[in-house]
Amino acid sequence: MGQRPSQQNELFYDFCLEKHIPHDHLLRQIDQFLDFESIRSHLKSYYSHTGRPSVDPELMIRMLLIGYCYGIRSERRLCEEVHFNLAYRWFCRLGLEDAVPDHSSFSKNRHGRFRESDLLRFVFDAVVQQCQEQQLIQGEGFATDASYVRADASWERYATSISDLLAQRRDSRAVKEYLDALDSDAGLVSEQKRISQTDPLSRWMLKYGPARFYYCTNYLIDVEHNVIVDVEATPTNRTLEVKSTQKMIDRVEDKLGITPKRLLADTAYGTGPMLDWLVNQKGIKPHIPVVDKTRRKDGAFEVGDFQWDDKKNEYRCPGGQALKSHRGKARTSRKGVPKENTVIYRSRPSDCSACEWKPRCCPNTAHRKIARSIYEDSRNVARRITQSEQYRASQKERRKVEVLFAHLKRILGLDRLRLRGLTGANDEFLLAATVQNLRQLAKTSYKPPDHRISAPA
Ligand code: SF4
Repeated sequence: MGQRPSQQNELFYDFCLEKHIPHDHLLRQIDQFLDFESIRSHLKSYYSHTGRPSVDPELMIRMLLIGYCYGIRSERRLCEEVHFNLAYRWFCRLGLEDAVPDHSSFSKNRHGRFRESDLLRFVFDAVVQQCQEQQLIQGEGFATDASYVRADASWERYATSISDLLAQRRDSRAVKEYLDALDSDAGLVSEQKRISQTDPLSRWMLKYGPARFYYCTNYLIDVEHNVIVDVEATPTNRTLEVKSTQKMIDRVEDKLGITPKRLLADTAYGTGPMLDWLVNQKGIKPHIPVVDKTRRKDGAFEVGDFQWDDKKNEYRCPGGQALKSHRGKARTSRKGVPKENTVIYRSRPSDCSACEWKPRCCPNTAHRKIARSIYEDSRNVARRITQSEQYRASQKERRKVEVLFAHLKRILGLDRLRLRGLTGANDEFLLAATVQNLRQLAKTSYKPPDHRISAPA
C-alpha cells in the first residue's frame, strides 16, 4: 500500500491557471460571450477620475455571475468560494495571490452605482444582443409567463393596513421605495390584509405551501431556442403581470427591433384589453385562451347560439328576435367606455313570453341578456386561433417558459430573494436571467479555442 508524502513545502511552483481549466468548463464557455469593454464605457461617467481607485466593476460582475450560475447568493460565501476555487479565480481574471474584494463592496455598489447606471439591465441586454448575433432569436414566436418567488421578509412581521404601516414607520430602503410607490400612480400599491414591515411592496399570498410574502418574475422568451428576451419584476398581481408583458414587448421592439408574429400565454393573459392591444395595436397573433365569463351552467343557450349582426349592432336569437343595447332614441348620450368594458344587449320581454324556446333560453328571467365586450372582435380573433392546428403546437411550446422557471428555482436556487424592495427583486431576476441566457449560449454556440482558429488555406 503506497502512501503519498504529505509535505507541501515547495518554495517555487511553475503554475499556469489557464492550463488547469478544462475547455468544456461552464465558466470557460460562458466567458466566450462576455464583452466588458462596452460595460466599462457604460459605467465610465459614474466613476470619479480623482481619488482612490475603486474595486474593478468587471471583477464584481464576474463574481456575481458566478454566484447566480452556481446558486451562491450569499456575498460573504461568494467571496470565500472565489478565494479558494481555481476556476472561479480564472473566470474573475485573478491570479493565485490576488486579493478577493470584501463582501461589503458588493452591497455598496449594488445599491449605489450599479443601480444608478442600471448596469444589470445593461449586462442583460448585452447578452441578449449576443444571442441575437448568434441567431438564437428568430422573433417568430414569443411566450410569456410569471412565476412567484418568496421575498426576503418574515411572515410574522406585518401591518394590517397602510395607515398601520405608516404608524410603525421604519427607515429602510424597501419602506422608502414603498412610500415612493404610494405617491406615484404606477398602481404598484393596493390595500391588502397583510403588509410586510420589512418589504412592503411584496404581497401576501398562498402559494407553494403556507401563505408568505412574494414577488413575481415575468419572462418573455423566444420559443425557438428558449432565450429570455426580457425580464421584469412585479408585485404578485395579475393586472401588473399583464402590463409587464406589454412593457416587455415594447422594450424588445425598441432595443432589438423585433415584434413577434405570435404570443403564447395562458388564460391569465386572455383579457379583452390585452387581446385588443395585441391584435389591433401590435399586429401580434394571440395564441392565448380567451377569458370567458359568459358560459352558462344551467344548460341554456350559449352566446355562440346567437347571431351577431355588426351593421345593425344587435344579436339575433334562435327564435329570430333582436337583442339590442338600446331601443328608440336615447335620452342621454352613450359616449365613453361602458362599465366593465361590456355593453348589455337585451331581448323584449313581450317577444320572450310568447317564444317556444324560453325554457332553454331564459328559464328564470323575463328576457335574455347578453354582455358583449367592447373588445369582442379581438376576442373572436383569439377564439378562431384556438381552433387551429398551430395553436395546439403553441400550447406545448408555451411550457418552455415553465421549464426556465423550474431551472431558475431548482438549478440556480432562486426560490427566495436576498435583496429587498422591487428594485432588489429586479436586480436578482435580471442577473438570474442573464446567467440562463449565458448557459444557453454556451450550450448552443460555444466554440472551443482550437476551432476558433481558422484553418490555413
Ligand atoms: S326566449 Fe326570447 S331571446 Fe330567447 S329565443 Fe325566445 S325570443 Fe329569443
